[in-house]
Amino acid sequence: MNPTGRYPATVYLGAPDMIRLVRRKGLSACIAGVATRIEREFLRWQAFDKSARVACHSAVGVIELMPIADDRQFAFKYVNGHPNNHRHGLPTVMAFGVLADVETGAPRLLCELTLTTAIRTAAMSAVAARALARPDSRVMALIGNGAQSEFQAIAFRDLVGIRELRLFDADPAASAKLAANVVGQGLKVRTFESIAEAVRGADIVTTVTAAKTQATILTPEMIEPGMHINAVGGDCPGKTELHRGVLEAGPVFVEFEPQTRLEGDIQQMPADFPVTELWQVLAGQASGRTGASQVTVFDSVGFALEDYAALAFMGETAAELGIGERMQFVPEADDPKNLFGVLRDEAAAPARAARGAVVTA
Ligand code: NAD
Repeated sequence: MNPTGRYPATVYLGAPDMIRLVRRKGLSACIAGVATRIEREFLRWQAFDKSARVACHSAVGVIELMPIADDRQFAFKYVNGHPNNHRHGLPTVMAFGVLADVETGAPRLLCELTLTTAIRTAAMSAVAARALARPDSRVMALIGNGAQSEFQAIAFRDLVGIRELRLFDADPAASAKLAANVVGQGLKVRTFESIAEAVRGADIVTTVTAAKTQATILTPEMIEPGMHINAVGGDCPGKTELHRGVLEAGPVFVEFEPQTRLEGDIQQMPADFPVTELWQVLAGQASGRTGASQVTVFDSVGFALEDYAALAFMGETAAELGIGERMQFVPEADDPKNLFGVLRDEAAAPARAARGAVVTA
C-alpha cells in the first residue's frame, strides 16, 4: 500500500535484496522453486499471449525486451548480451524486469534479473533435461565456465542427478573459478584441455559459451549415442554453438518455436527443419526421448515465460521473507484525470517522501 492506500504499491527488489533473498532461501530451493513454477506455467501454454522478443543488435552485442501476459499478469524482461563486457569489468548478461496487473496495467514488482536469469536458465535447462536426458545420466560436460555455469552445475546436481562435471573453457581461469566455487558440494570435477576430451563419455553436454559468432563448439564426431545436448549459449541471430550435423543427430526441442527459429542453433537449418516445443513433451502431447541410445538436443534461447515464472517466484519469496522496498512509481493524483494537479498540489509531497519504505511480510 502507498501512503493514501488508493494506488497499488510497486515492490522494488534490487540486486542487494536478491542476494539476500537467495542466501536466506538457499540457492537450491530457489532453483527448485523456479523449476516447479516453469513447469506449471509451461502446462498453461495456451493461456499466454506470446511473442518472440524484440532485439536491438549492435556490432558488439544485443539488447532485448521480452514481454508476455496471461489474463492476470503481464511481465517483461530487459536483458543484454555483450560477450566482450569482461573488458569493461561488466557481466555478459545483465537484466531487470517488471510484473504488472493486467486489469489496470499497474506495475507491482520491479526486480533485478541478472542473478535471477542465471537461476531461471539453469532451472529451465534442468526441466528440459529431466524430460529428455537418460534418467541414469550422472556425468555432464560443461563447456563455457562463465557466469551461468555454477548455476547449471547446481541445477543438474539437484534436479537431474549429475554427480560428475567435465569442464572446458577457452579461458582456463574460468574453469578454475567454477571448480573452486563448487568444491565440497557433492560434485566430482575434472578440467580438460579440449572440448573433445571434456565431452568424451558424458551423458549430458551443456554448452554455455559467449561469442558473437557462428561457433562450432560441438561437432558431430563428438556426439555419442544416448547423449543429451543442452545448448544454452547460441541465443541470438549470428550466434550459434552447434555444428548443423549435431542438430541432425537427434530430435531437437525448443521453447517457443517462432523465437528459436530466429535465435537458436536451428537458425542454420531450413525453415521446415522439424522441432518440438518442450511444453508439448511436458504435457504428454509429444514424445521426448524414445530410446536409451537416441541423441536429444535442447536448443535453448530463453523465453519470456521463464522470466514470468521467475518474477512470480521471487516476488512471492520476497514477501514471505520481508525483503524489498515499496516504491511509489505512479504519481498519485486526487483526481486521476488531473495529473497536472500533482505539480501544484503540496499534498503530493508526503507521498513522494514515503518512497523506500521497507516491505514487511
Ligand atoms: P560469460 O561471458 O560469463 O561466460 C562465457 C564463457 O564462455 C567465458 O568464460 C568464455 O571464456 C567462454 N567461451 C567463449 N568462447 C568459447 C569457446 N569457443 N570455447 C570454450 N569456451 C568459450 O557468459 P554467461 O553469462 O555465462 O553466458 C553464457 C552464454 O549463455 C551467453 O552466450 C549468453 O548469451 C547465454 N545465455 C543464454 C540463456 C538462455 O536462456 N538460453 C540465458 C542466459 C545466458
